[in-house]
Amino acid sequence: MKLSNLWKEKDVTLSFEAFPPKKDSDFDSVATAVEKIAQLKPDFMSVTYGAGGGTSTYTSQIAQIVQAQGVTALAHLTCVSSDRERIHHELDALKEAGIENILALRGDYPEGYDPAAPRDFRYAYELVQEIQAYGGFCIGGACYPEGHVECLSQAEDLRHLKEKVDCGVDFLTTQMFFDNSALYSFLYRAQEVGINVPILAGIMPVTNAAQMTRILSLSGTTLPNRFRMILDRFR
Ligand SMILES: Cc1cc2nc3c(=O)[nH]c(=O)nc-3n(C[C@H](O)[C@H](O)[C@H](O)COP(=O)(O)OP(=O)(O)OC[C@H]3O[C@@H](n4cnc5c(N)ncnc54)[C@H](O)[C@@H]3O)c2cc1C
Repeated sequence: MKLSNLWKEKDVTLSFEAFPPKKDSDFDSVATAVEKIAQLKPDFMSVTYGAGGGTSTYTSQIAQIVQAQGVTALAHLTCVSSDRERIHHELDALKEAGIENILALRGDYPEGYDPAAPRDFRYAYELVQEIQAYGGFCIGGACYPEGHVECLSQAEDLRHLKEKVDCGVDFLTTQMFFDNSALYSFLYRAQEVGINVPILAGIMPVTNAAQMTRILSLSGTTLPNRFRMILDRFR
């Protein structure tokens, strides 16, 4: 099912995100966890692409396991370390696997990334254009209630987001946030610049303080003081 149709039927939806395994030997345990989570019958499950050390080659396989449980899958796809040929190969594989939804992302810069070097994709909007031209997929994009960490201002980030949405994004999923007012203020600002696609709140359950500290410093997400004290106290 295309997710753009889901939100025509339902106002409130719940999804879970799965990280593909880092090592081949972990594949079976991730597959089992995904099957168990799928049994909770979420509206859909997303599968990240090479994020947090996960292996990109497994995204399509894990997404197929999700769909085999009768749950719609959303496959993430990043472009900054890729070229047009590899992206087309990925799109062919996803299409063949019956995956209809893609979260189109730039991805984080690889080590030694040279911004001046010629490349097929620099920003996510170019991947959105490529997937649009390929056809047949519902396309999601990432957004950042507190602004993307590399952007100089929230206003500039929002301008780029509007351009990305106008390239053919059907929905957005937010970066995690720990202060609801950051989300509400972002929703108003997005509406003001004419972003009218559904915006899903990305919620990160806190299970590991060390991991949290690392993620917060990479993403630039603010942790309210009260929450920080709880994290420090209970680790
Ligand atoms: C919900 C979610 C899921 C994610 N899943 C993954 C995953 O599976 N795998 C993974 O590796 N990473 C993942 N990420 C991380 C993501 O790849 C990084 O945050 C990355 O740094 C930016 O990706 P993007 O798609 O938002 O990029 P973009 O939309 O391209 O934006 C990146 C930066 O470029 C700026 N920008 C955009 N267009 C222009 C332009 N025309 N000119 C100048 N500047 C511009 C933006 O303002 C922003 O600062 C995810 C992030 C989120 C929020």
